Amino acid sequence: MHYKFEKPIAGTIGTEKYQCTIEWRNGTFIADEPERTGGKDAGPDPNTLFLSSLIGCTLVTLRMYIDRKGWDIPVISVKANLFQTVQDEKLTTIIDKEVSFPGPTPLDPEKKNRLLEIAGHCPVSKMLEGEIKIRSFVYHDEPVEKDLKYTNGEITVHWKPDFCKHSGRCVTQLPQVFDLKSHPWINMQGADTNTIIDQVNKCPTGALSYTRNSGQETTH
Ligand code: SF4
Repeated sequence: MHYKFEKPIAGTIGTEKYQCTIEWRNGTFIADEPERTGGKDAGPDPNTLFLSSLIGCTLVTLRMYIDRKGWDIPVISVKANLFQTVQDEKLTTIIDKEVSFPGPTPLDPEKKNRLLEIAGHCPVSKMLEGEIKIRSFVYHDEPVEKDLKYTNGEITVHWKPDFCKHSGRCVTQLPQVFDLKSHPWINMQGADTNTIIDQVNKCPTGALSYTRNSGQETTH
């Protein structure tokens, strides 16, 4: 299991309605709500961001394909909108995506049809049309009775089984340390200290944490 992003996209909100700071790999941007829902419209709202992702992916996919073919198509334009219906308590979202090529020379219909097909197969379109599961975790840092400890002399890894939601992150991403078939299941000799710390910090629930044996630092 490898995540698409080495570092997850992270967002925070304070008390100022409804400014969210979103951190991505190359900086931060603000997301907000429109004034009619109580925000200040200081940045795109979540639905706009959602459709922007589909538009951006479609544009890039088309540009790559067109360039590979060596076709002379200077501008590609994509518009998207969505509506939702509820029937028998089932929510259906319909996304309409319009593609056009507003260049000086009209494109022949065969090329247009091929490009429409390509537009429908961009990675984000495929993701939205495939099966999507959203797993939500809450981070626990409250004390708990059962706290199992594993050490390599330098650090001690704590595992709190009550908080483990079996996300599979540790066992799939660092199997040489986290192996459910071994006993003990955490092998502190399986990787160097920094690699273990890095993986412990990826536990989404707080089931894993570590302390330095020197007593200097405690973190999740
Ligand atoms: S990463 Fe954390 S929650 Fe996921 S399986 Fe490992 S210990 Fe459990």
